Amino acid sequence: MAIEKRRLGRSGLEFTVLGLGGMRLPGLTTDDAVKVVRHAIDSGINHIETSRHYDDSEVKIGEALKDGYRDKVYLSTKNSKRDGPECRRELEESLERLQVEKLDFFQMWFVNDMDNFRALMAPGGALEEAKKARDEGLLDHIGITGHSKNHEMIEYIETGEFESVTIYYNASDRAPAEIAARAKELDVGVVCMGPLKGGFLTGKNERFRSFLGRLPGETTAQGALRWLVSDTNVTTAIPGFASVAEVDEDVAVADRPPMSEHERRLVAAALGSFDYLKQGLCTWCKYCEGCPEGIDIPKVLDLLYTSELYGAHEHARRRYSKLDKNASLCTACGRCVSKCPQKLPIPDLMVKVEELLGAGG
Ligand code: SF4
Ligand code: SF4
Repeated sequence: MAIEKRRLGRSGLEFTVLGLGGMRLPGLTTDDAVKVVRHAIDSGINHIETSRHYDDSEVKIGEALKDGYRDKVYLSTKNSKRDGPECRRELEESLERLQVEKLDFFQMWFVNDMDNFRALMAPGGALEEAKKARDEGLLDHIGITGHSKNHEMIEYIETGEFESVTIYYNASDRAPAEIAARAKELDVGVVCMGPLKGGFLTGKNERFRSFLGRLPGETTAQGALRWLVSDTNVTTAIPGFASVAEVDEDVAVADRPPMSEHERRLVAAALGSFDYLKQGLCTWCKYCEGCPEGIDIPKVLDLLYTSELYGAHEHARRRYSKLDKNASLCTACGRCVSKCPQKLPIPDLMVKVEELLGAGG
């Protein structure tokens, strides 16, 4: 079945509900990367996104887009700079690495807080430069992407400057649904990065499999993607493919029915039902920033989930042992608790993490 297309906001482009995220291509040989990209395009995917900073992803995509493949896809890359001339330099490098004369989309990337956003928007800043490049015909559309708080992301798109917003939204990280809903009202396209939470929602954990793959023969990854694109405020999801088999697995979602709102709620509820995690999962909103002991709370909780939900206990322990400030420093002051929209019992979770992943765990 052909992959459904949705209008990417006021850009007017029709994007397939699945795209190709290029962040995993650096792990492949050039030959394999070319095969994966071309297989995705041959399977009906019509847009690719990458970044100057995903190692050699752009170079490999440039190779894959030869032999007529460029004309079959919309191509997007990203700018990490806030200063105009630096942004221009990055754009020119990206065009050269991709071996194309023009981009369909140029994303203002890694806009993770208001200071970053203000620098981007300042006179002589990256946005001004991107618009000049658009006038010169080097790109057609401008989008924004980042991990800022929901209300900040909404403020960015309310400026009217961006035709798409790329957000970290998936079956586990559900709070950005609020950004997607506002984007829809503003006629801004919504692209979802991390739709499988970096591989977290791929079915290597039996407990995930039991509630995410809800159709006979459906894998966990397919269930997670179906959950996401069943939100009609979403334009597209961009999993990072590392093999032809992964392309086939994800593209098969096009043949499956959307999840009803009821089913989506069941999945969301199930995700919150793991023993002591039943009060919900951290959504990475970062509202709890500013722990006086310097603990990076969402990062610590992510390691907890990596161990408990994903089953990668040793991996989580290794990463935990490398943290400068770990959960053992928590004094249970409670400052983070009142800021957490998920109402997570963070001090208790810090104790749990230390038991599980600390020296004695
Ligand atoms: S309760 Fe613990 S984690 Fe939360 S702010 Fe206080 S010290 Fe940091
Ligand atoms: S712990 Fe709570 S406030 Fe902090 S990032 Fe997670 S969900 Fe947000």
